[in-house]
Amino acid sequence: MTPKERMAIAPQAMPEQDPLIRARNMNEVALGYTAEMAKTEASRCLQCPTKPCMKGCPVAINIPGFLAKASEGDFEGALKIIRETSLLPAVCGRVCPQEKQCQKFCTMGKALGDIDKAVAIGRIERFCADLAREKANNNALSAAIHTPKAAPTGKRIAIIGSGPASITCAADCARAGHDVTMFEAFHKAGGVLVYGIPEFRLPKAIVQSEIDALKELGVKIELNYVVGRTRKLKDFIEKDGFDAVFIGSGAGLPKFMNIEGENLVGVFSANEYLTRANLMKAYDEKGHDTPYWHGKKVAVLGGGNVAMDASRMALRLGADKVYLIYRRSEAEMPARKEEVHHAKEEGVEFLTLQNAKRVLGNDDGVVIGLECHKFELGEPDASGRRSPIAIEGSEFILDIDTVVVAVGNASNPLIPSTTEGLEIDKRGNIVVNSETNMTSIPGVFAGGDIVLGAATVILAMGEGRRAAKGINDYLFKRP
Ligand code: FAD
Ligand code: SF4
Repeated sequence: MTPKERMAIAPQAMPEQDPLIRARNMNEVALGYTAEMAKTEASRCLQCPTKPCMKGCPVAINIPGFLAKASEGDFEGALKIIRETSLLPAVCGRVCPQEKQCQKFCTMGKALGDIDKAVAIGRIERFCADLAREKANNNALSAAIHTPKAAPTGKRIAIIGSGPASITCAADCARAGHDVTMFEAFHKAGGVLVYGIPEFRLPKAIVQSEIDALKELGVKIELNYVVGRTRKLKDFIEKDGFDAVFIGSGAGLPKFMNIEGENLVGVFSANEYLTRANLMKAYDEKGHDTPYWHGKKVAVLGGGNVAMDASRMALRLGADKVYLIYRRSEAEMPARKEEVHHAKEEGVEFLTLQNAKRVLGNDDGVVIGLECHKFELGEPDASGRRSPIAIEGSEFILDIDTVVVAVGNASNPLIPSTTEGLEIDKRGNIVVNSETNMTSIPGVFAGGDIVLGAATVILAMGEGRRAAKGINDYLFKRP
């Protein structure tokens, strides 16, 4: 096919549930490509010799390579290429911010003058991974069990947390022949992939199949185990005989607005709101006892993925009206473009260039409204985004009964605060060597959000992989 012929192929739209129906159910919104659609979309790739898309992928997947295979209908071959560098393609294909990564640099999108017309790399990646999982009957299946495992080394590794950084580090360490035990504070493994990102965006069966794959590899998983409380980190090395430790405890500490009324009944952090709904299955009232707040008029504060998830979850939990309040304009929103689009389609009302000033309560201390004010954009700030400036006298009252605060998360402080000698920076993130991911304590490694601050799944995965290599080098190369 000539480049001209490839450019003439229409971009394949993702089949989706109808917005008004899906806003009231928890099933996945994006239904996935058919084999024919995946093949057609992959055929749009121009096979650019300079491979600009690869530069946008944090783990440098050989994108043109896997697209070439997919365009021939060889999806197994495509997946094999993806798995050379990515451990969680079914997850990343769904949740990576492709428009800011690989697809941002795609020549096709640039040539057509529309980033939405770039080759849909993530959707094809997802298709390849889903097809393989379906073929395996949803059984444990991931890169982990498809790569040969080395002979036992006799070394023991403790992995703290079970999010994408820890899953990747555990899989790579187990494949290297180490005896790996994972310690997770919650009663279910998966980190944000199970407690934060909702079922309608990332089905939990996918995450579970990755956890099952870890178990197949021999990784032992201890749940309900809070390192720093159940046992101190240093005891793993000094008393329990572990040779190295990886900390992947994430950024689970919610930030608040620090405004009047934030302690009223009916105000939640997005973490709590989403954890109750996802991990504790509050949406399934018949099958689960988890209490939750039946908000009918919900205000969600923030403009990132967490805010989009919380606002869309509020609809699914029965809200009649959901406002998303963000103090900058939509152009500055850090959320994935697709999530913004989906939230709007489902009926979330966006109040941009506005922010909460005060939560109003009744005599019983229960939320009855939100005082907001309006903003305009000034000069760019340190983040490069234009900074919001409050407009004096622009206050107004919004009639709501629930507030969900989704203005960011900080690193989890428990382990740093209970581990002597563990260096952290001024934001509370663990400081690591940028090549090995080793912390200030020899034999203790860290990666993911606890190092980067709240970031992305793919970056966490990359960190876990680098740390596993750091652990191997530490165990076998040290004098
Ligand atoms: P986490 O996934 O946070 O996992 C850390 C784990 O460690 C948790 O299970 C926690 O319980 C456990 N833990 C913490 N302390 C201890 C302890 N003391 N002892 C034992 N266990 C402990 N990224 C994207 O790329 N795309 C998205 O669309 C996206 N959407 C998001 C939506 C939400 C609601 C949230 C919250 C985040 C989202 N992210 C998204 C960010 C992404 O999920 C994170 O960057 C990623 O999960 C970080 O991985 P991690 O392994 O470092 O930590
Ligand atoms: Fe294909 Fe786009 Fe990558 Fe070029 S930039 S190789 S067209 S995916």
